[in-house]
Amino acid sequence: MVAPPYHDRPRSGVDSGQNTLQQNTRRISSAMHAKMCRELPLDRVEVCYHPGRSDSECDCRKPKPGLLLHAARELGLDLAQCWMVGDRWRDVDCGVAAGCKTVFIDRRYAEGLKQKTDFSARNLGEAADIILRESK
Ligand SMILES: [Zn+2]
Repeated sequence: MVAPPYHDRPRSGVDSGQNTLQQNTRRISSAMHAKMCRELPLDRVEVCYHPGRSDSECDCRKPKPGLLLHAARELGLDLAQCWMVGDRWRDVDCGVAAGCKTVFIDRRYAEGLKQKTDFSARNLGEAADIILRESK
């Protein structure tokens, strides 16, 4: 299992402490990810550390699929057999772009989907049930 990719954007800063803040953010994130991988059945955690701007040029900010593609390369995964689960349109579009099956967890946010999801669920447990049922 791979944790859904997320964007761990350092808060903007204009003083000379910004590099220290970014270093601390990465150090804390790495420690959190190591603990998650020790305590949960996770093979990998993917994070985008690029600046959090909507016009970012990196290929890993959802809805772009860079983090999923990277994880698939590293783990030798067939993305057509993988699932992207998320509660935002960006999650669904990221999964579609990567060639994954998608489950949208509908939390009734005031935003619509831009692409069609394969499945919808009310919560993560229901999403897990769908994945187990459809993966037989
Ligand atoms: Zn990025």
